[in-house]
Amino acid sequence: MTNEEFRKYGHQLIDWMADYFNNVDRLPVKSAVKPGEVIGRLPGKAPYEPEDFDAIMADFNEIILPGMTHWQHTGWHAYFTANNSYPSILAEMLTSTLGAQCMSWLTSPAATELEERVMKWLGEMIGLPGDFDGVIQDTASTATLVSLLTAREMASALEINKTGFYGQAPFTVYCSTEAHSSIERAVKIAGFGKDHLRKIPVDAAFAMKPGLLEEQIEKDIKRGLKPLAVVAALGTTGSTAVDPLDAIGKICKKYGLWLHVDAAWAGTALLLPEMRYMINGIENVDTFVFNPHKWMFVNFDCSAYFVKDKAALIRTFEILPEYLKTKEGTAVNNYRDWGIQLGRRFRALKLWFVIRSFGQKGLQQKVAGHIRWAKIFAEWVEEEQGFEILAPYPLATVCFRLKPSKLNDEKKINALNAAFLERINRTEKIFLTHTKLNGKYTIRFVVGQTRTELRHVEDAWVTIKSIGSELLRESKF
Ligand SMILES: *Cc1c(COP(=O)(O)O)cnc(C)c1O
Repeated sequence: MTNEEFRKYGHQLIDWMADYFNNVDRLPVKSAVKPGEVIGRLPGKAPYEPEDFDAIMADFNEIILPGMTHWQHTGWHAYFTANNSYPSILAEMLTSTLGAQCMSWLTSPAATELEERVMKWLGEMIGLPGDFDGVIQDTASTATLVSLLTAREMASALEINKTGFYGQAPFTVYCSTEAHSSIERAVKIAGFGKDHLRKIPVDAAFAMKPGLLEEQIEKDIKRGLKPLAVVAALGTTGSTAVDPLDAIGKICKKYGLWLHVDAAWAGTALLLPEMRYMINGIENVDTFVFNPHKWMFVNFDCSAYFVKDKAALIRTFEILPEYLKTKEGTAVNNYRDWGIQLGRRFRALKLWFVIRSFGQKGLQQKVAGHIRWAKIFAEWVEEEQGFEILAPYPLATVCFRLKPSKLNDEKKINALNAAFLERINRTEKIFLTHTKLNGKYTIRFVVGQTRTELRHVEDAWVTIKSIGSELLRESKF
């Protein structure tokens, strides 16, 4: 491709992208392709001769697009959102144009210094105390692993990095039964063994019971194990439960445990001062992660990881082979030593574009709207015969199900709700997913797509309500 062609196709692509946003709501939210359908249409061998961009684009439209699930559809109410926004997309275009690999200050001073500045902004924007430093990671899963590795090295005076685990009593890690699967994965990768992950029971609101946490820590100490860290969730993936950070933090302090906070989705809500009750007790927290790539309109990937002791982080990960030595040394940040990977994308740029473009005010207004509309949706569900709310909804996710008054067999209720969800998604207008809470098949309704408005939530409710009534009539309950 020549520079002239790049310019020509680049202009065409921008038009394609703007049209996409105008039209995406008319596409099925969830792709309807069958397994193998896309790969079956792709040639088995890579082309030997160069191909025209027009031909590539035609196949993109023909083969790829129908196989895409549209996360930027205003009918997106599944999982959590993975939002983008216009300024974020434009910044990503610049990032890929510059094509910089930002592993150290020297390899792009502006990338490093912008990251330092926007992460300070972001920490302040969500109400973190000034003693936290931030670094962008790819995902919350990585940040949680990085946190537990740092905890391990601090607890062993960097001994495990040096000699491995030989002769050490096992470390134990604590989270709630509702915590994200990434914690178990991190425990496995960090070498603690998943048998040493303690899943503490939750209360009626699906939040960790701190009394049981303390009991478990004491039991483990008596057994000669070494309690290492607690991972508290602000906004669990199932029901967005908020663990009691203050009480958990006091227990961590008492027993000398590391405290990591997983606020992957809910962290964005902290932009609103009225939601900061969730971080009461932040003074006892060592590390904190949330994903601007979920709810804060920065497209995937961008995970904001904050640490109270950056020296601990750097000492855990630093490497300094001869070929990476620079004369600036430690006077500047070299983010290659703030996590697992060496090479790094210039992700701070899109964060900067988004924060400046929306302003704190614009971000707050959007997020407050999502939370408000979710509450309105929940009120509709509560008032509807044959529907039931299954968890508190402190944020913008509502957990509900159909519950016919005369049907009490939980198995049958579960089957009815699986059929309900299937039928909702078959409309192709909205997409919802499920979880299980106390064994109950639970439908989750997440409000938070970048362009979703109250009217979309209203339309979704009309669809959900009519399918629900239809099923109730058919099942004769
Ligand atoms: C989404 C989510 C994660 C995982 O996020 P990734 O960035 O995809 O690793 C972890 N914890 C919670 C609570 C989540 O909702």
